[in-house]
Amino acid sequence: MADTIFKKILDGEVPCHRVYEDGRVLAFLDVNPLSHGHTLVIPKEPAETLDQLSDDSAQAVGRVLPRIVRAVLLGTGARDYNILQNNGANAHQVVKHVHFHIIPKYDDGSGLGIGWPAKKLDSDEAEALAQSIRGAVAPTGVHRAVGK
Ligand code: 5GP
Repeated sequence: MADTIFKKILDGEVPCHRVYEDGRVLAFLDVNPLSHGHTLVIPKEPAETLDQLSDDSAQAVGRVLPRIVRAVLLGTGARDYNILQNNGANAHQVVKHVHFHIIPKYDDGSGLGIGWPAKKLDSDEAEALAQSIRGAVAPTGVHRAVGK
């Protein structure tokens, strides 16, 4: 995996405004915030997308994410927020290192704007679809998804 800007931040080559760090996780302010307090939480493991992340790093991120959210809320006074996690260029991922956005949403509308073009689940296909996904869930570890 090519070095990303987040790898450079992890290596101390590029500065950041750090809000949390442990052996596996770093959190820092987004340099182009969508709203006041927009924070990024990243595993130190250099996985490109979430499906490539090890169970250990996933566990480490999941364990502290709610704690960092609480700190962002306390530090900003925000009440509402979105967690955004983009994977792949087509899904708006720019930096190819797994990251979770914590984006406070304020009464003035600042924060994440979401388009949600929902359709109706096709009941004829739903069970076959659920079954094929169910059957693909691996017990542990990283298994390559189709097309990767
Ligand atoms: P993505 O679109 O990949 O999910 O979001 C990447 C995020 O990283 C963007 O919100 C962008 O502002 C942020 N970002 C990119 N470069 C830097 C940087 O050098 N420092 C910080 N703190 N954030 C960055």
